[in-house]
Amino acid sequence: MSMSGGLTNWAGSVTFQAEHVTRPGSLDELRALVARSSTVRALGSGHSFNDIADTSGVLLSPDALPHLFEIDAAARTVRVGASLRYAEVGRRLYEAGFALGNLASLPHISVAGSVATATHGSGDGNRNLSAAVAGLEIVTADGDLVALRRGDEGFEGAVVGLGALGVVVAVTLDIVPAFDMRQYVYEELPFAVLEEHFDDVFSSAYSVSLFTGWRGPAIDQVWIKRRADQDEGLPGDWFAAWPAVEPRHPVPGISAAPCTEQLGVPGPWFARLPHFRPEFTPSSGVELQSEYLVPRARAVEALRAVAAIRDRVAPVLQISEIRTIAADDLWLSTAYGRDSVGIHFTWVKDMEGVLPVVAALEECLAPYEPRPHWGKLFTTAPEALREAYPRLPDFQALRRRLDPAGKFANAFLARHLPG
Ligand SMILES: Cc1cc2nc3c(=O)[nH]c(=O)nc-3n(C[C@H](O)[C@H](O)[C@H](O)COP(=O)(O)OP(=O)(O)OC[C@H]3O[C@@H](n4cnc5c(N)ncnc54)[C@H](O)[C@@H]3O)c2cc1C
Repeated sequence: MSMSGGLTNWAGSVTFQAEHVTRPGSLDELRALVARSSTVRALGSGHSFNDIADTSGVLLSPDALPHLFEIDAAARTVRVGASLRYAEVGRRLYEAGFALGNLASLPHISVAGSVATATHGSGDGNRNLSAAVAGLEIVTADGDLVALRRGDEGFEGAVVGLGALGVVVAVTLDIVPAFDMRQYVYEELPFAVLEEHFDDVFSSAYSVSLFTGWRGPAIDQVWIKRRADQDEGLPGDWFAAWPAVEPRHPVPGISAAPCTEQLGVPGPWFARLPHFRPEFTPSSGVELQSEYLVPRARAVEALRAVAAIRDRVAPVLQISEIRTIAADDLWLSTAYGRDSVGIHFTWVKDMEGVLPVVAALEECLAPYEPRPHWGKLFTTAPEALREAYPRLPDFQALRRRLDPAGKFANAFLARHLPG
């Protein structure tokens, strides 16, 4: 995030209306601040590409609160401060012999901000990061501290909360025993082979990500992340793709130094599941992003539809990523009620050039029931979002109950979730 020329998100694509981030040092101070503010919103690590975190009032971060980190080994959970980054959570869990089931492509993002937008990684058996939430502690509009646990009324609505229900101060996450992983990169998987073996390709490892620049009829790179205890080594020729002989960055022409270790070197789960290392700038660093999640059963058709407009997509694209996400039951999760495939686009940083292509993409993906990633660029109409999310009316009712005066409302919500 930058302060020069105004406070911005990580990408520099949104200048927040607030001049600074307010950082209360205690829970009582945070509760009092929320209670007396007429318009307020929580900010995580600022990695969203749209104005979802912006507010015309007070922009507030819980990152000056004491950094909670409490493992309950018997319950198989960890309770963490909302603003902790996954990098820290991962390292500390590993030291204690535990793991999270999955991570996103980067570990730099805050836990609360990530789960609020249904952030995900990849893996047929892996749900998004929000689905690992077992409990939330939220400061609601009048300054009350509300604890919600899995099974409580409204819990499934509150987890992917888009920042609309209050300020989350602590999150309890499911954990599993620690494990090690090996990461391999293969190159040049023909699109025709992917079409024919879609399920075999994605079920071949704990987490599989495909990267393509849509410049030809092939997937440029296949990133395969296997649990070390289930890895029997991979064959030289894999679905007609070949192993990379040196480490790769997904974006062509960028050094692989920021990427997590490849070439099958074993290492802790938290240092293999993300593509990028915490001490480096992730991805290309100069970019915009969009992503659409489609039902897995429609994925091949949806990919063909994107391929049909590749001449428009490729010139403003740095790289596309295709991942699988298992279904969950969180109302506003992009994987609500359906196993999903995420079709992601890392664009060049040129909003004017990119937005018409985003519109064209949305048009060509419309028949495949796409759900846009809440934290990335999209222009989907509210009616289409209502259709895509059967529990949206329940979410709106939960908003009205927890935030009757609309303290946490902002332009993003007014635009996409009116009423
Ligand atoms: C380089 C890069 C790579 C990415 N890779 C992936 C990926 O692999 N998979 C994926 O799914 N996404 C990915 N994203 C998107 C990213 O995960 C989401 O934008 C996520 O929301 C970022 O978390 P954040 O903490 O930065 O949230 P912010 O952008 O700060 O906030 C997002 C939302 O969460 C709310 N929020 C934040 N903190 C709180 C709180 N304490 N209480 C209540 N609400 C809160 C905000 O109000 C806002 O509505 C990537 C982004 C970048 C920049």
